[in-house]
Amino acid sequence: MADQNFNPFKMAQQQFDNVAKQLQLDQATCDFLRVPDREYHFSIPIRMDDGTYQVFRGFRCQHNDARGPAKGGIRFHPNETIDTVRALSMWMTWKTACVDIPLGGGKGGVVCDPRILSLREQELICRGYIRQIWKVIGPIQDVPAPDVMTNSQMMIWMLDEYEKITGMKYPGVITGKPVGAGGSLGRTEATGFGAIFTLREALKEKGIDITKTTASVQGFGNVAQYAIKLYTQLGGKVIAVSCWDNNVKKAITFRKAAGTNYDELIGITDKFGTIDQAKAKDLGFEILDGNDWIKQEVDILMPAALENQINADTVNMISPSVKIINECANGPTTPEADEVIKSKGIFVIPDFLCNAGGVTCSYFEQVQNNMNYYWPKDEVLEKLDQKMTAAYHGVSNMAKEKNAYMRDAAYLIAIKRVADAVKLRGIV
Ligand code: NAD
Repeated sequence: MADQNFNPFKMAQQQFDNVAKQLQLDQATCDFLRVPDREYHFSIPIRMDDGTYQVFRGFRCQHNDARGPAKGGIRFHPNETIDTVRALSMWMTWKTACVDIPLGGGKGGVVCDPRILSLREQELICRGYIRQIWKVIGPIQDVPAPDVMTNSQMMIWMLDEYEKITGMKYPGVITGKPVGAGGSLGRTEATGFGAIFTLREALKEKGIDITKTTASVQGFGNVAQYAIKLYTQLGGKVIAVSCWDNNVKKAITFRKAAGTNYDELIGITDKFGTIDQAKAKDLGFEILDGNDWIKQEVDILMPAALENQINADTVNMISPSVKIINECANGPTTPEADEVIKSKGIFVIPDFLCNAGGVTCSYFEQVQNNMNYYWPKDEVLEKLDQKMTAAYHGVSNMAKEKNAYMRDAAYLIAIKRVADAVKLRGIV
């Protein structure tokens, strides 16, 4: 989220500018790609359960659609800002290009806190959001999906509103729908599993046995849960997990030197990814400070919560034992922190490669919607593994060839693909 000291959009532009220079992109292409193509700002007035009215602010940005319809989630968060949505839409453009799926980049958000809204109020916000943007989204225009604090139930409310307005059946207008209502099997696991497919490949390349590795994870929401599930299934040991606790309004780290896993934690976690402190203590976890996840003496760090978590203030807390940062979240590392990470020789699997499993499976969901034929879960996950593995090696080979930092290599591939599409269309 943006705050006084951190603006994700400026960070996304800074990252873009560095690579545009290396690619020697012409000025017009730079000017075109460093801002969203279109953005929408709107109000969503809701009659609350207590009879009062509240007006929520909503946004949708379509950063680029030169390679296909814009694609990206909708976030519900009290600290949502237009600059966060702009940055995330831009990262979506690079993400879809990096894994080479025929989609562009978009993102949406509503400034609200679903944790304190009733289900009815959440539904009204979802439907109100669609009433404001239905004309500019669609399966061949811009395809939303879930993101932080939005879920499959919300996606089906949104789809239902869209179909009510248009009078047509358009399951491909939104992805991340529940299975049985146009959703794809494997979508729930896709982002977390995808992140571990890339990690597995990186460990193989480095000759590190995954069963001898340890990890510390920030967040225990959708992405972290399934990343932890697959990583521990492959033999890795997770010794710390952190989450945001809205009751005490701060982040908490849960540590267990013997290792923890999905099954142990999921039973004591609410639907917003908050782990219950008292129950965790009973299970033998040490309760530590929010920042302690980053200080752990582990081989792998997995930021899987929000952006701006590995920054100038926290980067020096990283233990010398850390070999890999697997960026499950979007934008977890700032450019200042990147410089320190480079100097320490830590290998980074950059966000828009690492967490591209979600959008890749969303793309599969759309393909299945268009065919009106649904694949078994194994088939979805196998296709996901192939896509993520190929994308990882594409970036890793580019990094070796250009002697580049992995993030720069991913950017080089993605920006070039998008710039080429823009040129081929004759846009600039
Ligand atoms: P989520 O809402 O399901 O979970 C977020 C988790 O982060 C929760 O456990 C929450 O308690 C924790 N958290 C929030 N603030 C924290 C803090 N300051 N310290 C520690 N923990 C904190 O969200 P998600 O869907 O798992 O998404 C996580 C990240 O992954 C986001 O950056 C999102 O944009 C990105 N992402 C998600 C998907 C997807 O398919 N869900 C796809 C690509 C990228």
